[in-house]
Amino acid sequence: MANNLKLSKKHGVNPSLQVCTICGHDDGIAMFGYITGDKEAPRRTLSPEPCKKCKADIENYKKQGFVIFVINDEFENEEMAHTTPWQHFKYLTVVKREAEFIQDWDTSKGACFLQASRATKMGLDQFVES
Ligand SMILES: [Zn+2]
Repeated sequence: MANNLKLSKKHGVNPSLQVCTICGHDDGIAMFGYITGDKEAPRRTLSPEPCKKCKADIENYKKQGFVIFVINDEFENEEMAHTTPWQHFKYLTVVKREAEFIQDWDTSKGACFLQASRATKMGLDQFVES
């Protein structure tokens, strides 16, 4: 967050409750200050990255395989340049490191983001409730 927060004349620091993009739990407060048109900040906003608990879960998933974070395609739009991929998170899946379709991917970080349209083409969005 920028250190030089421009205050809103109507709403002051203009706070918003941040929620984790993965689990949806409260994860701190964002201060928007002045927003174009001196609008009030939304009551809730998506955190730019997962909460501590989800980060710990992700590290555990990495021990089980390669983690794929599926994100909305809209993240590629230029007007989304101020957002993080986490704010476009849809779901995650863990695949075996030996899975053929990831063999030419850079798996050195144990995880990657993948656009939802590509995930759909690969059949990664087919869920079965158990
Ligand atoms: Zn979380």
